[in-house]
Amino acid sequence: MNGGLSCDGDSVALTAATQPSIEEILLGGLPGLPEVAMHWPLLDFQCGPDQGPDNVIEWWHRADRGELEPFILAVEGSVPDESIKSDGYWTGFGNNPDTGQPMTANKWLDRLAPKAWAVLAVGTCAAYGGIHAMAGNPTGAMGVPDYLGWGWKSKAGIPIVCVPGCPVQPDNLSRDHPVHALPRRRPRARDRTRRRTSPQVVVRGDGARGL
Ligand code: SF4
Repeated sequence: MNGGLSCDGDSVALTAATQPSIEEILLGGLPGLPEVAMHWPLLDFQCGPDQGPDNVIEWWHRADRGELEPFILAVEGSVPDESIKSDGYWTGFGNNPDTGQPMTANKWLDRLAPKAWAVLAVGTCAAYGGIHAMAGNPTGAMGVPDYLGWGWKSKAGIPIVCVPGCPVQPDNLSRDHPVHALPRRRPRARDRTRRRTSPQVVVRGDGARGL
């Protein structure tokens, strides 16, 4: 979710990760990693949050309805205090279909954090509040652990995974992402074949390779 008090810098940084890359995580390039789908406005570029053929925000509503299991909630940007103003909202990420009004980052955290397998706070803003959390900022911005509580744990018993940085160092994020802690799957046939054959590769004296 990059709809909090975020500049999208961490989303952009993640596209530069190489150890591993986002492509390796999403396309099955890491043996044993379960299939992963990412519902991320930066990649779902064919549609806005609330329109288009593949409505990205609908995945968020599915998670809220318990139709997406397990999922990891990744938050970029700090969380405002929506209670310290009399009107309007500080953030919006899609609309509430019941009211047609914007869903705030706070509302998504309230709804999805208790259902998430893990919660990831990406970047200094999400981890600690960042520059927005300095004294005098009217939003009352804070980090995800400030909002949920520093002792908060997911339903899988996992504390909030904070990966700070402004923006986050991309390989720190792709390496420390809780996706790597998901229950491992059995290697697919292609992986098993690769594992069986690779030890049998020999290098002949003339430099040619054979099985
Ligand atoms: S931590 Fe830095 S890059 Fe990330 S949302 Fe905040 S200001 Fe932007």
